[in-house]
Amino acid sequence: MYLGIPASRGIGIGSICVIAEHELKYDNAKIEDTEAEQKRFSDAIEKFKKETSEMAEDIRKRIGPKEAEILEGHLVMISDPSMSGEMNKMIAAGQCAEAAVEAVCDMFIGMFSKMDDDMMRQRASDISDVKVSLLKILLGIEDVDISKVAPGTVLVAKDLTPSMTSQIHKENVAGIITEVGGKTSHSAILARALEIPAVLSVPDITTLVKDKDTAIVDGTEGNVYINPEGDILSSYIIKREEFIKKQAELKNFLGKETVTADGTSLELFCNIGTPKDAKKAVECDGEGIGLFRSEFLFMDNNHLPSEEEQFAAYKEAAEVLGGKAVIIRTLDIGGDKDIPYLNMKKEENPFLGYRAVRYCLGNRDTYKVQLRAIIRASAFGKVKIMVPLVTCVEEIREVKALVADIKKDLDAEGIAYDKNIEVGCMIETASASLIADLLAKESDFFSIGTNDLTQYTMSVDRGNADVAYLYSTFQPSVLRSIKHIIECGRAAGIPVGMCGEAAADPLMIPLLISFGLTEFSVNPVLVLTARCIISKWSKAEADELANKVMNLDTEKEITKLLKKEAKE
Ligand code: PEP
Ligand code: MG
Repeated sequence: MYLGIPASRGIGIGSICVIAEHELKYDNAKIEDTEAEQKRFSDAIEKFKKETSEMAEDIRKRIGPKEAEILEGHLVMISDPSMSGEMNKMIAAGQCAEAAVEAVCDMFIGMFSKMDDDMMRQRASDISDVKVSLLKILLGIEDVDISKVAPGTVLVAKDLTPSMTSQIHKENVAGIITEVGGKTSHSAILARALEIPAVLSVPDITTLVKDKDTAIVDGTEGNVYINPEGDILSSYIIKREEFIKKQAELKNFLGKETVTADGTSLELFCNIGTPKDAKKAVECDGEGIGLFRSEFLFMDNNHLPSEEEQFAAYKEAAEVLGGKAVIIRTLDIGGDKDIPYLNMKKEENPFLGYRAVRYCLGNRDTYKVQLRAIIRASAFGKVKIMVPLVTCVEEIREVKALVADIKKDLDAEGIAYDKNIEVGCMIETASASLIADLLAKESDFFSIGTNDLTQYTMSVDRGNADVAYLYSTFQPSVLRSIKHIIECGRAAGIPVGMCGEAAADPLMIPLLISFGLTEFSVNPVLVLTARCIISKWSKAEADELANKVMNLDTEKEITKLLKKEAKE
């Protein structure tokens, strides 16, 4: 078995077709007839543009506009005078077209690949793709015609470039294995869009296999088997059937309401970090945003984002959601999230220190900029404010006082906002849970942050592997805490949601239905899974299971019972 990066879920079984790398060799002699060489170069550029725009058009039709953008980006690059102009200059000075293409592309590749930003590094691989395509045109090299491979083919390549991927007909390609690329590389994005199982970054795979070998591509786990034994093959055939059945079942939940088996409607929201993710949440059929982790705006910057920068981001998310709820969590930094330019003090116990609302209330000028940006964005959708790491009533009261001051300022300046903008508490500390009845009187809503609630209830650092065995939302103490918080919220008549990872846990969902949670906020890719699980439980069945669970003594007994009763 070979291990790689699981880049596109599912199981593919088929016969291998290796896409060989061609040696892109050329004679680098000085050119005498530079005019003729320039003509050869411009013909190659024209051919490249024609082929690329045809491929982009084909992808747009067969896969989607987002995926076509990758190839359209190649067209923009080659049309940029800093690239083709530079190449032309070199040819005019006597270099052959191949050498000019290689030198200019390599210069840009070197520049982009050194950058910290993932997107910029991706540009380096785009330029490399453009370079190879241009060299092949100049050298008259024809690749394997991927569009003509037989049904049940597993493609094996060093890297699968967008131009190669564009030729794939998904009904013929059972799987993809490459030597390079990660979860966010273009080949991964395209494989996911085509729903072809893919495992990337399997070292030396092109030299370890040959055409017609049988391969199993487990794109969920990242495993690859070549010419597997009979029992492995038969177990994977069963896994493949199960996966296909499950996917088909999940698709049935697209565009559907989120309801329990006995017809109670629940809200299924998404957790996001950037306005771009808001689009993803909508594409994945999320019904709102239950947690916008605003700190990413601060972490992805080298300066404090201004009111206008923040306003633009919050407004964009509000508009993308078109009137559906967008719950923006105010700055939650400290603990494991450092922002270098804020020069926060090093602390002995950062998780118990000056973080989140504590830091914000100690740095009110910064906090007011954020609150003002959020409140202004409320004129463009259903924006709500959520306060992290609350431990006492004063904190939420102080935030509300700041909100009231800002509203007065905005009124005086004639700036629009939602006068009824809600302010809610994240309940994620042991203290907040214990005083949930008091906090409920001060809050418009609660959202339970189980990631931290588990940490603070169990006194266990959420990132420390040595104590990870204690870090479980299914610990009796954590379950009691969750139940108590929901009861306090319901008694006060405010909605209670959950935005910690536990909200999407199939084992946790029946318990949350029983306790009376009304809003689940999950990673966008888990929306359909959560909706499917919710649809399988009635309140009566969930209550029966929860009663048994709440009478058990240990986490092991609880998870054992939940696994036994799970409906997946
Ligand atoms: C949580 O604590 O459950 C949560 C959702 O917030 P974060 O993981 O960002 O701390
Ligand atoms: Mg938290």
